Amino acid sequence: MVNKRLFGTFGVRRRANEVLTPEFASKLSAAYGTLVKGQVAVGGDTRTSTPMIKHAVISGLLSAGCNVIDLGGLPTPAVQYAVRNYYDGGIIITASHNPPHDNGIKFVDADGIGIPEDMEEKIEDMYFNENPDRVSWDEIKEVEINSNIIDEYIENVECRVDAEAINDAGLKVVVDCGNGAACFTTPYLLRKLGCKVTTMNCQPDGFFPGRNPEPTEDNLQELISAVKNLGADLGIAHDGDADRTICIDENGSFVFGDKTFALVEKYMLKENGGGLIVTTVATSSAIYDIAEEFGGEVIATRVGDLLVARELKDKNGLFGGEENGGLIFPDFVYGRDAALSTAKIVEIIAKEKKPLSKLIKELPAYKSEKRKIECPDDLKKEVMDSIAEVTCEYEVDTKDGVKIFTDEGWVIIRPSGTEPIFRCFAEAQSDEDAKKMAEWGISLVMEQLKSRK
Ligand code: MG
Repeated sequence: MVNKRLFGTFGVRRRANEVLTPEFASKLSAAYGTLVKGQVAVGGDTRTSTPMIKHAVISGLLSAGCNVIDLGGLPTPAVQYAVRNYYDGGIIITASHNPPHDNGIKFVDADGIGIPEDMEEKIEDMYFNENPDRVSWDEIKEVEINSNIIDEYIENVECRVDAEAINDAGLKVVVDCGNGAACFTTPYLLRKLGCKVTTMNCQPDGFFPGRNPEPTEDNLQELISAVKNLGADLGIAHDGDADRTICIDENGSFVFGDKTFALVEKYMLKENGGGLIVTTVATSSAIYDIAEEFGGEVIATRVGDLLVARELKDKNGLFGGEENGGLIFPDFVYGRDAALSTAKIVEIIAKEKKPLSKLIKELPAYKSEKRKIECPDDLKKEVMDSIAEVTCEYEVDTKDGVKIFTDEGWVIIRPSGTEPIFRCFAEAQSDEDAKKMAEWGISLVMEQLKSRK
């Protein structure tokens, strides 16, 4: 288990200009630059602190001897796209869906995938031991500006869908970019594809005046009303750095991310005559059912979009995703991509000639239940190991926490990385069974805790 001090699941996220200061950003980037050298692309979201952090990041990279390419303001996946095609590395300044006062730094490798844990450790080590390379004055390289990436990224998305079919359908779409980085892409993309677009919160603004950047049902109430009032076919919302897409159907119902994932999976498998799907152990059984019906194979990784992206690359997978609406199309970007997700969804509605609610209803339906229970951090591993032992009469997967399969469904018990709790997530055919499974999961943790008092 790696004991990281600065990095979270994807990069470093902190309060801007309190912890995440220019000094911090610059030194961390110098450490990254020392390992990468070569050409490093830099881009970021619409936060008020992004230009400040970006300039510090650029200074750090230059001081370590890198060439810097400034891509400007753009979605996280657009930076990943650019790095994969043209550069040796990349740094993205964003705090994704966090509140406006935060910002963050994400580092990617030459494939545009978030860097692996051992590289994060090396960067931390250099950061704390103060030994990034500082090149001499005559080895300092240049900053180049590349402002073509957004147009190129949008064109690439267009090429990957049936633009004619989408154009013929003339779908009415309401887009809520939450004043984040999708402002630069989604409205333009959908208009180019021939959709009738109404925009909300589509002017970039680091104060996020329209709504909270996290696209939850609560935060999307205005989009839901707009879809209903305008009689639109679809509502689309993104998080702050535009790597996630959330849909509202034509009746104004919020569509959960696992449903969108299953819908696009079905379509990708049909279109390609099967293929390898990668997801995490916490994903719905619907993903497996669809794979079985349409000639696919499923691999489940530990929870985390970087792990899914890396597995897709290593195993040459077709498509991947997570239950939160992050979809990965590995032949385009090795990471969650909101623009291609959006284009695929309008393509599916256009080609199947059915409203979104109907397409969702046709998917396998499971009921789920989420619970949590407190457990001291130092007991988590012991408790998990013991649960795996006492449930050995069932099929058990210990890739990430303990996932137990029974005839009724499954339950996964996972330790939180940030809080002294276990999260317990169950899925079954009926609400009642899902509840029962979740309660059983909680009781397994309680039994183990009791025996240790
Ligand atoms: Mg995000």
